[in-house]
Amino acid sequence: MRIDKITLTWVRVPLVEPFRISSGAVAEKDGIVVEVASDGLRGYGESSPMAGSFYSSDTPESCWNALTASIAPAAVGRQFESLDAASSWLDALPAANFAKVGVETALWDLEAQRRGMPLHKLLGGQRNEAESGLAIGLYDDTADMLRAIERHMAEGYRRVKIKIERGRDVELVRAARKAFGDIPLMVDANGDYTLEHVSIFQQLDEFGLMMYEQPFAGSMLAELAQLQGMVCTPVCLDESLETVADVRRAIELKALRIANIKIQRVGGFRNALEVYRMCRDAGLGIWVGTMPELGIGCAQGAALATLEGCTFPTDVESSLRWFTGDIVDPLIAVDRGMLRAPSASGLGYRVDPARLERYHVAKWESQ
Ligand SMILES: [Mg+2]
Repeated sequence: MRIDKITLTWVRVPLVEPFRISSGAVAEKDGIVVEVASDGLRGYGESSPMAGSFYSSDTPESCWNALTASIAPAAVGRQFESLDAASSWLDALPAANFAKVGVETALWDLEAQRRGMPLHKLLGGQRNEAESGLAIGLYDDTADMLRAIERHMAEGYRRVKIKIERGRDVELVRAARKAFGDIPLMVDANGDYTLEHVSIFQQLDEFGLMMYEQPFAGSMLAELAQLQGMVCTPVCLDESLETVADVRRAIELKALRIANIKIQRVGGFRNALEVYRMCRDAGLGIWVGTMPELGIGCAQGAALATLEGCTFPTDVESSLRWFTGDIVDPLIAVDRGMLRAPSASGLGYRVDPARLERYHVAKWESQ
């Protein structure tokens, strides 16, 4: 595998409505589309941190700088024995996972095209579809949250995740249970709580939730393990799982029963698969999260979610759930709560040049 050329396009797509969680809000989605040309083929990846240090300290600006100044110039012209060798080389670079992931995942697209197989098969997926779950941000008014759930549930999503924050938790869950009964329901705190708030999670235990996603900050693994010892509902980790070493430590400490694997956070498919295997071998529940990414990243997430053992619905939703448009053709679609994996080779979605042009903020090409 030789990397002949890399083209980067920074795009910005307006959201349908602002997305708010315990740590901030965004109204636009930034993503960096990475096109890698190799041996006559073109593979696509996406570097997709949220603006404003939303779920991590990485931003579109920091990833753009890392990709244009170091990663892409270092990669172009290199020849690798295998996909695994290329991925290992990238992993060792001194750059952020959110920057590397765009190149790493483009190489998987190339490899799948070269072998004439769909990406999800290359990843080891046994199924041709994955369950999709609905994620709902924070609203000032609980009635607005309930309306949003109702509106989107019509598309058949297989579970509902609501965001909570200090002071806005038990009431939100009670309202959702009252309005929608015994639906598969979970909460995501994005790390807003501490051990002082254990009683909140003990109260939430009464509502039969699927999981508590990231109750405490990412680094608080010992405290998360303590919490898991004091509540019945499984603790799921997201922000805590940035590296393979983090995941190993979290498992050793028994800080989680469920893992939300994000391809972006761990820097690509190679690490995501390693994390997946570790979690599966530890008997944990697994699902695939999103930032959410634009269409390339969402298609990748849906492909990973076809693996056996991804026991909970993914956060990958339809393109038009969050975005006023998308860069892939066709758009990501959820049909009766399911995402179907394309049967074409590679990613299986065309990256539309006209849409890249429409949404582009900056462009960079290697020599
Ligand atoms: Mg989360």
